[in-house]
Amino acid sequence: MITAERKPLSEIKEMIAPYKKILVAGCGSCVAECASGGEKEVGLLASALRMDAKMEGRKIEVNEITLDRQCVYEFIDQLTGLVGQFDVILSLGCGAGVQALADVFAGVIILPALNTAFIGQTKEAGLWIENCRACGDCKLGYFAAVCPITRCAKGLFNGPCGGSKDGKCETDPDAPCAWQLIIERLDKAGRLDLLQNVYPPADWSKQQGKGPRKIHREDQSI
Ligand code: SF4
Ligand code: SF4
Repeated sequence: MITAERKPLSEIKEMIAPYKKILVAGCGSCVAECASGGEKEVGLLASALRMDAKMEGRKIEVNEITLDRQCVYEFIDQLTGLVGQFDVILSLGCGAGVQALADVFAGVIILPALNTAFIGQTKEAGLWIENCRACGDCKLGYFAAVCPITRCAKGLFNGPCGGSKDGKCETDPDAPCAWQLIIERLDKAGRLDLLQNVYPPADWSKQQGKGPRKIHREDQSI
């Protein structure tokens, strides 16, 4: 999932300062799972903005809505009849959601309330960990489903750096050494032979430097 954290209230207040009618729009997918932009967080932010305005003697109107997904047109369409009633949409979607709204509602001011962080997993309640950098050429099949690009601090493809201690990374005593995990998992799977291959560096041309990436599938087109 895409993870994100809410911006500080002071930054949000500064962005919305010129506007009186605000629609706080959440997203029920990834950012709901990481507790930054779902229905609950929409309610909390809307209440905070109302309370803050009241304490400062300012009159604002803050409404709330949470779309199932803010990056898919079918769900964004729910806003079509609403956007004209507001000065601004304050989005609690990820960067993709904010830009999808802007794409659909060309003349509408859309502001981000979140800082989009990374692709990751929910490790435990309240803990999210990055585990994929979307390199465009997944090599998890060679590395026992542990991503060395993301989870090894040095992004090593051909074995550990030698600094690991008690199974932890030398750069962070709380983080498991990715290469320790890779070797243990390959061993358990009887696939240590995969370590005999020499893996070339990641081909970052698949990930960056050519503008936005696209996936276009004819079989999914209507
Ligand atoms: S190898 Fe690339 S696509 Fe696969 S998990 Fe790592 S960063 Fe993501
Ligand atoms: S200790 Fe392990 S995870 Fe950390 S940089 Fe070295 S090989 Fe990578």
